[in-house]
Amino acid sequence: MTTNWDGNPSENLLLTPGPLTTTPATRRAMQRDWGSRDCDFIELTARIRRRLLAVVGGEAAAMTCVPIQGSGTFAVEAALQTLVPRDGKLLILVNGAYGRRMAEICRVTGRAHEVLEWPEDRPVDPAAVAAALEADRAVTDVAVVHVETTSGLLNPLAEVAEVVATAGRRLHVDAMSSFGAIGIEAGAMQFTSLFASSNKCLEGVPGIGFVIADVVALTCAKGNAVSLALDLEAQWRGLESAGQWRFTPPTHVLAALDAALDQFDAEGGVPGRFTRYSRNCAVLCAGMRELGFTPWLDDALQAPVIVTFRIPDGGWFRFGDFYDSLHARGIVIYPGKLTALDSFRIGCIGAIGEAEIRRALGVIAETVAAMRG
Ligand SMILES: *Cc1c(COP(=O)(O)O)cnc(C)c1O
Repeated sequence: MTTNWDGNPSENLLLTPGPLTTTPATRRAMQRDWGSRDCDFIELTARIRRRLLAVVGGEAAAMTCVPIQGSGTFAVEAALQTLVPRDGKLLILVNGAYGRRMAEICRVTGRAHEVLEWPEDRPVDPAAVAAALEADRAVTDVAVVHVETTSGLLNPLAEVAEVVATAGRRLHVDAMSSFGAIGIEAGAMQFTSLFASSNKCLEGVPGIGFVIADVVALTCAKGNAVSLALDLEAQWRGLESAGQWRFTPPTHVLAALDAALDQFDAEGGVPGRFTRYSRNCAVLCAGMRELGFTPWLDDALQAPVIVTFRIPDGGWFRFGDFYDSLHARGIVIYPGKLTALDSFRIGCIGAIGEAEIRRALGVIAETVAAMRG
């Protein structure tokens, strides 16, 4: 594959949870201006909706794709306030910051909710979810984060979906950092909505969130939303009636996403991307271990998306200096987001391969040698 990194130190290598490194082909796709009411732009929107839906096999499961302007959180907020009825109650499964953010969205939009919480290094437990649904008949909907980007942990989505379907409740999935990289088949597991964005594993530029939603659930969701711009049902109706966005669409971002999806297809779709990211993750973890850094999660829980490392003991490591040294050489990493532990994170997603990971490891090795003195 063609990656962004060509040895040119003025180009940033983004080893973060997003926005991520993109390819020159994706960035070049933004060179043209589009009229938002033109036939070719309407066709571009329709094509992208079809392509995103196909990533999870959603057509066969009577689902539709509704894109929305903004970052991923805009799609989460639109989906929850539109698809959880005003008199419903959402059970939120939390083992990190993105689960907590959904609780915050419910608080702001006035949706009754309850949180079931686990430590940030433990997966959500489907049996506990089944028990909670049995105990509280008022719960109508459940929300889960597929890959908790806070830590990099992979939650057992298929098992949770099974439990929620058996209990006859609706499921909403934050698949922001797994969509396009970790297989999800709408035909093989039941969910009412699933949300992601343009700028994570699809390797587009930031600016679009989207929801893959059950058509029947959307049809019944009129009037649920408490916001005009983040009303997913109204956004969907607009797109279905005239093929147009209700408000100014991020035209260039859509063009870039179309180009990014061409590269996604050329790489072999989800299996191809999973293979590359898994290799990135393995090379990163092995290299960091050699340098004395320990990944925080058990290997079995680690998704090939982003890795949390403990801050090493001994007092020599200061994250600010480490970050600055890497950044000065075009490598951007991320601070930790755990509540309980001092940590930092390095992502393995985006338009990067083993060569870029090894390049980053080389810079990290030199930085560590200098910091240890
Ligand atoms: C990135 C991400 C989001 C959305 O974050 P934005 O900053 O709004 O793009 C939501 N959930 C998860 C799990 C994420 O990784």
